[in-house]
Amino acid sequence: MNKTILHLDLDTFFVSVERLQDRKLEHRPILVGGVSDRGVVAACSYETRGFGVHSGMPMKMAKALCPEAIIIKGNAGTYSKHSDIVTDIIKEQVPVFEKSSIDEFYADLTGMDRFFGCHQFSSELRHKIIKETGLPISFGLSVNKVVSKVATNEAKPNNELKIDIGTEKPFLAPLSIKKIPMVGDKTYQTLRNLGLRQIKTIQEMPMDMMQRVLGANGAVIWKRANGIDNSPVIPFSERKSISTERTFDRDTIDVIKLRGILIAMTENLAYQLRRGKKLTACIAVKIRYSDFNTYSKQLKVPYTSADHILIPKILELFNTLYNKRLLIRLIGIRFSHLVQGHYQIDLFDDTEEILSLYNALDKIRERYGDKSVIRASGMGAKTIGRMQNPFNGQPPSVLAHRKQ
Ligand SMILES: [Mg+2]
Repeated sequence: MNKTILHLDLDTFFVSVERLQDRKLEHRPILVGGVSDRGVVAACSYETRGFGVHSGMPMKMAKALCPEAIIIKGNAGTYSKHSDIVTDIIKEQVPVFEKSSIDEFYADLTGMDRFFGCHQFSSELRHKIIKETGLPISFGLSVNKVVSKVATNEAKPNNELKIDIGTEKPFLAPLSIKKIPMVGDKTYQTLRNLGLRQIKTIQEMPMDMMQRVLGANGAVIWKRANGIDNSPVIPFSERKSISTERTFDRDTIDVIKLRGILIAMTENLAYQLRRGKKLTACIAVKIRYSDFNTYSKQLKVPYTSADHILIPKILELFNTLYNKRLLIRLIGIRFSHLVQGHYQIDLFDDTEEILSLYNALDKIRERYGDKSVIRASGMGAKTIGRMQNPFNGQPPSVLAHRKQ
């Protein structure tokens, strides 16, 4: 059976939120990101695109390319709030949807045509979001996620595009190979060096030729170029979480040790988030006292996966939670409200150096294990970590240090 997949994507999301708050920013070139010379562009308005500006670029370079741009320091809290408002509207209308990033959603509308036209439904949902949030949003509608995502990008800004069943290949054919989701700068260069420019050329090639050049990735790219994609919509659940906890050999009241363990736990879970390209928007600390009474406290946070943002918040939660001078048997932390996303986007205070520091540390962990680099303050808790991939559907490993 043919599926009907909707892809929704807010247009220049951070810029649009800034414009909601200050109408004078309308139609002006805007750069959102770190404001220091060492900062990074997190988002840029359409008015800056003609100057060669793109997100991920050093702010200094963007400023040089587009000197008249207005530069705004991003605010992860505000963006998270608006992302949640949009999510709630979608949740109300479509019970099963995927939140693939802070500003992007997929929904499987298969079967809905019997009751109500999918296109009409999508169009009404889009206009409802625009009306209720004031934020421009675009959508693509087709038989799968890949074609819908490409359609959304072609529809932008603030528009919609439906690709009729059977017209996927001709729709993709004239587009640049750069528009295939997952073709990054490196793959693009490789394909360009082979003389490929339009998706049409890949469509005319045999699949194994692509496979020979690019390995397993080549086959995926070939399928995508031909409009073939079977990936399912993964339902978004705010309850989806990763967690870790520790039961002590001997109950403890040693606050310095407890804080060290919490730091090590946070550092490790944040690394797991980054490794799974995920962000959290809700963190929790759990304490079990020696009398088995268990308490936990949670806190909503702007979407992040950065240790230096999470650690102080975890310690703060622990401080408010640990108000009895009682022996502790167990402590644990949990991150939930997970969405797909890159941690760079919320680091508006940070510089290229911090971003590359995280990259370098994570590379060392990838290669030598997750205990190879740790904060000095968490060094006392050497046995925290060594978690397998927490996003493979398996329950997280519980670090038990005594027989339960
Ligand atoms: Mg977007």
